Amino acid sequence: MNDHSIPDNPYFLLTPGPLSTSKSVKAVMLRDWCTWDEDYNLGVVEKIRAELTGLASKSGKYTAALMQGSGTFSLEATIGSVLPPKGKLLVLANGAYGNRLAQISNRLSIETDVHDSGEVNPPDLELLESTLKQDSNISHVIVVHCETTTGMLNPIEEIGRIVKSYGRVYIVDAMSSFGGIPMDVQNIGIDYLVSSANKCVQGVPGFGFVIAKRDELEKTKGFARSLSLDLYDQWKTMEDGHGKWRYTSPTHTVRAFMQAMLELKEEGGIEKRHQRYLENHRILVNGMAGLGFNCLLPKALQSPIITSFHNPSQSAYDFKKFYDSLKEKGFVIYPGKVSVADTFRIGNIGHVFPQDIHNLISSVKESIFW
Ligand SMILES: *Cc1c(COP(=O)(O)O)cnc(C)c1O
Repeated sequence: MNDHSIPDNPYFLLTPGPLSTSKSVKAVMLRDWCTWDEDYNLGVVEKIRAELTGLASKSGKYTAALMQGSGTFSLEATIGSVLPPKGKLLVLANGAYGNRLAQISNRLSIETDVHDSGEVNPPDLELLESTLKQDSNISHVIVVHCETTTGMLNPIEEIGRIVKSYGRVYIVDAMSSFGGIPMDVQNIGIDYLVSSANKCVQGVPGFGFVIAKRDELEKTKGFARSLSLDLYDQWKTMEDGHGKWRYTSPTHTVRAFMQAMLELKEEGGIEKRHQRYLENHRILVNGMAGLGFNCLLPKALQSPIITSFHNPSQSAYDFKKFYDSLKEKGFVIYPGKVSVADTFRIGNIGHVFPQDIHNLISSVKESIFW
């Protein structure tokens, strides 16, 4: 296989996913796999599950299940499968992804409470504590780690400490942070961590995964409110079948993910990838500030994953025109998703390096027409 047979991308995807991936990740998809054969089950799926579990915790208390679909499918599988029939979910929301968790829970007719702290504020930890003290019906608490709506990084450690001190089950949507920000799920007290193939591990889209505390997951047999999104059954089939999936597996995507995990290791692991993302982010924010663009969030709340910028206030400014100009120069950025302010977003994760961000800043400079 040679890299020259893989065409170049016409532009970088500076978005929350799918992201720009390496040629080698795409290249390994150029063969077919049998979803029932051990070359695939043992050679690919089991290796990924073991590796994911090891990245999340060295404790040996965790296990992993892969699930077809985009990240939202894995969130819906988790919420719909781990809450017992009379369970109650508390959602800490401060953006569109947090709201989506509440939407999933409500759609599944699960009793749901939402603490919405607003798009530019962190969760209210005192309210969380007093609520858990008062309401013993709340069995599970869920929060988004990096709220991709704004780029805010939520304090999952502090939240974990409170949730665990009241003995509740803790679920974290670490979709856009796992693989890019170091975390130890056991130390944080996470029972279920949900992420997907096409974010910081830098694979291609097609499946998500759940890293679960084994003894918690084992209690959830029969809870699922859906057949295809039954997390326990999916996990049990993989566990007992040594890498077997229920229903067709996204084989090429899964193989690409194994390569992406290898490349994560070659880069030096999550710690090193985090350093690259921090550096990308630093160059981005400083470069944009030099051109007059201000960040939505204060530095203390900002993740090194994706950044929201205020749209320029000049009347000649037009996002679509700005977007098209950058796209033509090789960079796809992202519209804003915040309701409280007029913003756009630039992601800096994926197969994107500091020099690429320097080039982006030059292109932004050339794209200012207002
Ligand atoms: C990307 C993302 C998701 C999942 O989105 P999909 O489009 O279903 O892959 C969920 N939560 C967060 C915080 C995300 O960034």
